[in-house]
Amino acid sequence: METTDTINIKPKTKISSEEIPFYKPIDREVEVFQHAFKNRLPMLLKGPTGTGKTRFVEFMAHQFEQSIITVSCHEETSSTDLIGRYIIKGAETIWVDGPLTNAVKEGAILYLDEIAEARPDVVVAIHSLTDHRKELYIDKLGITVKAHPDFMLVASFNPGYQKGFKELKPSTRQRFVALSFKYPEPKIETEIVQTETGLDKDTSKKLVNIANKIRNLTELGLTETVSTRLLVDAAMLINSGLPKRLSVKVAIVEPLTDDLEITQALTDLCDLMI
Ligand code: ADP
Repeated sequence: METTDTINIKPKTKISSEEIPFYKPIDREVEVFQHAFKNRLPMLLKGPTGTGKTRFVEFMAHQFEQSIITVSCHEETSSTDLIGRYIIKGAETIWVDGPLTNAVKEGAILYLDEIAEARPDVVVAIHSLTDHRKELYIDKLGITVKAHPDFMLVASFNPGYQKGFKELKPSTRQRFVALSFKYPEPKIETEIVQTETGLDKDTSKKLVNIANKIRNLTELGLTETVSTRLLVDAAMLINSGLPKRLSVKVAIVEPLTDDLEITQALTDLCDLMI
């Protein structure tokens, strides 16, 4: 018997029409997703953290009035976590469907965030859903479930950016239609920061300039650079009244590095730019 504490699943969300997620398209990703959805092709969203992958899935789900079930994968995430397990309830042993089985039965979008982090058996479990069979085999029950016509699999993947990163096997990648997410052009990113937080255009632009400056400082050897998410965080702090320089330091500089010299150098740079 297994416990259920190893999985991180967000509750199923059906985004209501009043709360349309704000998503600013960067390229032709909306069009690609529309066609992938129409053909129920699995999608792989590649790109660094904070580039809008999750927001994009939420936005597309809203467009198609689909529910999303999100699973944030980590090194312990196994196929059992996704498919389901027997649990003890009182004196009984009952079967509980996992998020993948729920999505397959109900016809939701299953979003596997950071799929490469999960255990290899997760990839095996989704194989038959990513090809013409579109079915899920539940080995513990000895049954096969045909996917609901609206079921769609979306996964995200952050391509190797640090030591010890996990790659996705080519045979797995080939099961998906893949889209690359990058940091947007300054004009678009300024609009995202502004719309997302209500910060004025001038300051939003300065934040984006800081981000681009730091993104180009490749010699610093940062494992991750400034994401749109960090800019949005900084903008929110400024908007709520925290001084600009302090906001930039705590939302942009400090999350990037623990190296004292680099922190000081980046803080000095940002102080001049904000
Ligand atoms: P990821 O899933 O790639 O790590 P998220 O989708 O969580 O990134 O994006 C982080 C934040 O950045 C979002 O909450 C949103 O505020 C902002 N963001 C990034 N890209 C966009 C975009 N194209 N349109 C709207 N907001 C965006």
